[in-house]
Amino acid sequence: MEYDVIVVGAGFSGAVTAQQLAQAGQKVLVLEKRPQIGGNMYDSADKNGVLVHWYGPHIFHTSSQKVWEYLQQFAQWEPYQHRVLGRIDGKLVPIPFNFTSLDTLFPPSQAQKIKEKLQSLFPGQATVSVLELLDSPDQTVSAFGNFVFEKVFLHYTAKQWGTPVDQVDRSVINRVPVVLGYDDRYFQDPFQAMPAGGFTPLFKKLLSHPNIEVRLNCDALALLSLNQQTGEIRFQGQVFSGPLVFTGPVDQLFGCQFGPLPYRSLNLVFEQLEYTDFQPAAVVNYPNEEAFTRITEFKKLTGQQLPGATTILKEYPLPYCPENPQGNTPYYVISSPENLARYQEYANLAALFPNLHLCGRLAQYKYYNMDGAILQALNLSQQLLGCKPEQDKI
Ligand code: FAD
Ligand code: UDP
Repeated sequence: MEYDVIVVGAGFSGAVTAQQLAQAGQKVLVLEKRPQIGGNMYDSADKNGVLVHWYGPHIFHTSSQKVWEYLQQFAQWEPYQHRVLGRIDGKLVPIPFNFTSLDTLFPPSQAQKIKEKLQSLFPGQATVSVLELLDSPDQTVSAFGNFVFEKVFLHYTAKQWGTPVDQVDRSVINRVPVVLGYDDRYFQDPFQAMPAGGFTPLFKKLLSHPNIEVRLNCDALALLSLNQQTGEIRFQGQVFSGPLVFTGPVDQLFGCQFGPLPYRSLNLVFEQLEYTDFQPAAVVNYPNEEAFTRITEFKKLTGQQLPGATTILKEYPLPYCPENPQGNTPYYVISSPENLARYQEYANLAALFPNLHLCGRLAQYKYYNMDGAILQALNLSQQLLGCKPEQDKI
């Protein structure tokens, strides 16, 4: 066998692992089912010449110095602070909901009273969870919490996840806080930027090492066989005893033998428009009336200057179904106790294979942002190279 390592998937989890191992002298084969590298981060120019993220809008942000420093080798990064507006009661207000949102939607004296209450109950705090506001014993604050919950979270969450909001894990809701001030950025991380020229050139650089071979349009499941009695892995019929790093959906690796793991998918509807500007922010959320959750205008994410043309994306959530062409991408894991228990069955099975390593959003069934996936891949690479794994977490 001419490869030391096989990596399945060319998103961040796979590409970073491949790069790290190749740099350490190992010969790495990357198998990617899609016709292109980049995983969900894949971008390219559409027919209007607009740089488009084909699997949904991706904004890089992290609080990890290690991830930030690592990425400097592969792109020039343009500083970018993501700002989102939400349409509430016919008005566009900042999301996360902040004091500007409050001033816009409440009469001045009421807004002033709420702000004072919030500042006295959460002194020195930049953000608070909407769920904490709901539980507040203070009536003004809990009524305000109810308002934000109803107008921002309730319907958006039901649309996004296809279930009532009380069945959605609290950590999902808590990804978007309420801001106790006028900071109108979507993310509070110290490092926020976009790669100049897009994510795809970054992935080309990540995978350009001479020790890496990438095979596109290649479903790894057709080439691999895993023997559950012996823990043996075969690649194209021959025993493969090097590490196999798998970053695809773990249930599919094992023929969904404990039942399929549920994912949420999206119908992504792109529109090419013949004018320069569509909306006042890169992303506008539509929590309430519309069937879609948000509209992204890509030029405002990437800073691309292109008069007379712009491209927007509307995201319509729907259940993941491999047979439905509109919902056949497993975009989001659904963290419920039942699903996590099923995932654990797959993880236990995977542990019977000493050379198999699950890495990434799909393989670990975790709601990783890009930085979390990158950090996980860096840690796994260290472990595979025999270095003491660092316990970095995001
Ligand atoms: P992926 O990018 O999904 O890569 C997995 C790869 O494995 C895919 O290319 C797939 O084709 C391949 N594969 C699967 N099965 C097989 C097989 N059998 N054989 C061969 N190849 C296979 N994160 C942020 O930090 N900021 C954002 O703004 C952001 N926005 C997002 C918006 C949306 C709509 C979504 C869904 C996610 C967003 N994320 C964002 C999260 C980000 O997409 C993930 O963190 C990232 O994709 C994780 O990388 P990965 O390599 O683990 O998975
Ligand atoms: N959310 C919401 N209203 C919003 C934005 C977010 O209810 O205007 C909730 C919703 O449940 C969503 C979660 O917060 O799934 C996380 O939002 P985020 O923007 O982080 O989602 P992603 O970018 O991963 O789709």
